[in-house]
Amino acid sequence: MVEQRYGAGSRVLVSGGAGFVPSHVVDALLARGCEVTAVDNFVTGSKDNVAHLSAEPRFTLVEADVSEGLPPLPGRFDAVLHMASPASPTDFAKLPLEILKVGSAGTLAMLERAHADRARFLMASTSEAYGDPVVHPQPESYWGNVNPIGVRAVYDEAKRFSEAATMAYHRFHSLDTAIVRIFNTYGPRMRPDDGRAIPTFISQALRGEPITVHGTGDQTRSICYVDDLVRGILLLLDSGETGPVNCGTEHELTMRELAELIVRLAGSDSEVIFVPRTADDPEKRRPDLTLARTLLGYEPEVGPEDGLARTIEYFRA
Ligand code: NAD
Repeated sequence: MVEQRYGAGSRVLVSGGAGFVPSHVVDALLARGCEVTAVDNFVTGSKDNVAHLSAEPRFTLVEADVSEGLPPLPGRFDAVLHMASPASPTDFAKLPLEILKVGSAGTLAMLERAHADRARFLMASTSEAYGDPVVHPQPESYWGNVNPIGVRAVYDEAKRFSEAATMAYHRFHSLDTAIVRIFNTYGPRMRPDDGRAIPTFISQALRGEPITVHGTGDQTRSICYVDDLVRGILLLLDSGETGPVNCGTEHELTMRELAELIVRLAGSDSEVIFVPRTADDPEKRRPDLTLARTLLGYEPEVGPEDGLARTIEYFRA
């Protein structure tokens, strides 16, 4: 099994550290005893996500746009995690150039810092790298089906560039790198208005408004509770594996099932209605987790009912 490589005494740099997933990664690293520096420009993240760490001496929050290059950060980092990027479909329309920049210039800046420090570099990639997949479930060996000029391309192609850049540093500079392909993840600290299905449905259910399912609602996603994802990311970080490695769950639900489950768990009387579907919205999404299991011993533990109930409680509060 994978032994913990980063703990007390390790210094870790996390871009996007005030975001939904990255702030949970920061919490987990601090819980292990690491010293963590988070760099964020708060374009989609929030200081509130790390407000509970304001008195933590092992945590530093730096406001900066990593696409403009990293600010001077003293000392040497043992690990560099590049997690900064707007990630929701509404961001694709509102922040297309910011997404392209953070996935290109931002990734190169983070890779350069890892290279200078001889740190391990981990890049947060995405199931969107597979586009609208014609292979199901998706193994890491599948090269994907991405429309390079579609509305989602700013995100999908930026992440594919980030993967290519990561592998170039790995091959050319012998940098110790890892790529995690993250599948749909949800949990506390998501923005209610970020446009992704789960926060949208929960907000609508709690307000008693109709749940707006796109298309027929037959399209599927496999949904992962954030604690499971964070465990997978840290296993990959510790493992020394290069990847890419998928991380998520095999709990595949149709959007209609997801909407109905959220209505039930929220105790809501909202009706489910159907609205036009966005362009290039993938039909199916489910990770092949064979690599994560065999290389990392990863196994998701939180089922959708449990994870959604916890997330609904967070939104209610
Ligand atoms: P998020 O928007 O909550 O977090 C991203 C963070 O990056 C935010 O705090 C944002 O302010 C910051 N950021 C963006 N551009 C920046 C820049 N130029 N400089 C500094 N900071 C910047 O989104 P999330 O869902 O937590 O996603 C985190 C990472 O995981 C992203 O890289 C995303 O692509 C990846 N990912 C997430 C999911 C998911 O289901 N949540 C799925 C696949 C991949």
